Amino acid sequence: MEMNRNVSNAGPKARMGQNQSSALTAGEEKVDPNYILHTLAPLPYDYSALEPTIDSHMLKLHHDKHHAAYVEKLNTALQKQPALYARTAQWLLCNLNQVPQAIREAVHHNAGGHVNHSFFWQMMSRNGGGSPTGALAEALQQDFGGFEPFKAAFEAAGEALFGSGWVWLVREQESAGRLKIMTTAGHDNPMMQGFYPLLVNDVWEHAYYLKYENRRADYLQAWWSIVYWDGVAKRFEHPQTV
Ligand code: MN
Repeated sequence: MEMNRNVSNAGPKARMGQNQSSALTAGEEKVDPNYILHTLAPLPYDYSALEPTIDSHMLKLHHDKHHAAYVEKLNTALQKQPALYARTAQWLLCNLNQVPQAIREAVHHNAGGHVNHSFFWQMMSRNGGGSPTGALAEALQQDFGGFEPFKAAFEAAGEALFGSGWVWLVREQESAGRLKIMTTAGHDNPMMQGFYPLLVNDVWEHAYYLKYENRRADYLQAWWSIVYWDGVAKRFEHPQTV
């Protein structure tokens, strides 16, 4: 399951001509010629697109500094593990038992940060807001009693999460099963437990503190005005292809 093609490496052809760290060629490790560093995709909108809910300064820091740092640290951790070069960040996160112990923690945190942020950017749009329609709306009705009760439960879960983490709407299986709200600590992802993510909000303080200060609840409530429901509905209806 690839929920986001930006998360994965683009394939051998697309890797050609990418910058490689000089540290990779200077060491004794044999470097796969197809290897590229994991890369930070640009945002799918400009920095001001989500204003006023998320202002451009906060969004720029979040993407260009926080997300970028996870990508950089993931690459650093992987430098001496050529066997893992071809693996997507999503694969690494879901197969940590196959990552050498010496770098497992760094891969866990930073592949998680990369996967989750790549997914998170797709949750939002300049033309976001409103409410879901079609099959997704019906499922929210069935599993939460409607859109408003769903939003209230999602906000409550996000607010109740202690420390840094994420709040999710997931499906119990990829293409069937009930919808469920869950939270993860750090940069863990529901895919690690076999759930299929449909929607996520970042409730690390770095996601909201500059504008909302300590008022996480206000951020969670304001966030609905930028949610890109068409994208969420597409993932719900076509889980294998999106
Ligand atoms: Mn974040």
